[in-house]
Amino acid sequence: MDRVLLVAPRGFCAGVEMAIKALAWMVRMYEPPVYCYHEIVHNKAVVDRFREVGVVFVDDITEVPVDAPLMLSAHGAAPAVVVAARGNGRFMVNAVCPLVTKVHHEAKVRSGKGFQIIYIGHEGHDEAVGAMAVAPEAMHLVERVEDVERLELEGPVALLAQTTLSHFDWADVQAAAQEKFPHMWVPGQSDLCYATTNRQSALKAVTPQVDAVVVIGSANSSNTVALANVARAMGCSRVVRVNSVSELPTDLAGVVAVTAGASAPEELVQQIIERLAPRNGVHKVHDVPEDEYFPLPRDLRNAVASMAAVFAFGLGAPVPAVSPAADDRLIRASDVLAALSTLEGRSNTDQRISSVASTASTVVVAMHTEVSAAP
Ligand code: SF4
Repeated sequence: MDRVLLVAPRGFCAGVEMAIKALAWMVRMYEPPVYCYHEIVHNKAVVDRFREVGVVFVDDITEVPVDAPLMLSAHGAAPAVVVAARGNGRFMVNAVCPLVTKVHHEAKVRSGKGFQIIYIGHEGHDEAVGAMAVAPEAMHLVERVEDVERLELEGPVALLAQTTLSHFDWADVQAAAQEKFPHMWVPGQSDLCYATTNRQSALKAVTPQVDAVVVIGSANSSNTVALANVARAMGCSRVVRVNSVSELPTDLAGVVAVTAGASAPEELVQQIIERLAPRNGVHKVHDVPEDEYFPLPRDLRNAVASMAAVFAFGLGAPVPAVSPAADDRLIRASDVLAALSTLEGRSNTDQRISSVASTASTVVVAMHTEVSAAP
């Protein structure tokens, strides 16, 4: 094949970065098994990596032993699940993305004011299931225009949506809903999150210049599937979605765009490019820069601070003034994933505590380096 156009932004978003780093801290702090309600993010490589170090993923909260540490995934859980997860004083961290929380909050507020809520989302997707459960009596899930046509709603109507839809799907359904309910309330800013929007608009700009598009990510990742749909809707006749390099077709030719869903690790992108081996090189195509950052959940920051203090006290060292997990924006989730290999096969508490200390010191060094390098 001729050339690769490597699209940016692609890959991990701020919510996925936060969720992966949060689960990595849990793995380092607690002996296995650490439990996670739903896949932490919808990517096979990421989930497999955590399984290797003792994380057990469950779809039913009652499967989690009462004293086991538990994390809730980035997609957001139903309110009843969050309550059950906290039960019995268990240590629980909710790694829901703040942008999903915003939609939950809006659903609660609007339903409380008597609105009927049209929610555009994918039936059965973790995010949609969690959001619908916020106000089940008021919310109506729609996936396509025909679903809107079937709706019969009384009183004020509002529109909310899953954060990771394809812009094309969302626009059609929103237009149909607005035509049917002209006074419908819509959020000031679309519920499609910044990462979904940016990845789709970057791919849209590149698609007319290429013969094929490769989207890296898993089939259950809504934003990954949405990327592939965008490329098809733009008229590209060869669009392939792959989980890993082993799924890459061998007959791709001409100019190929490569992008990745918000939960796909960069190492997969590099493996795909290596396999494509373009004769005339890789050309990076940037759309909008991204600098969003979501801090780790507060409960986790506090837990890391406590453990680091205990460790420092045991060594006779000064107790850190701030939690080593307070600001980890300089640590990349892809590096955190790679570093998990140091934990494989380990299970004793001393090793876990020493691993927390080593991770903590890495964060502190990175923070210090950044401060020293500041002009
Ligand atoms: Fe949050 Fe958007 Fe990432 Fe989903 S895709 S985790 S909503 S930033």
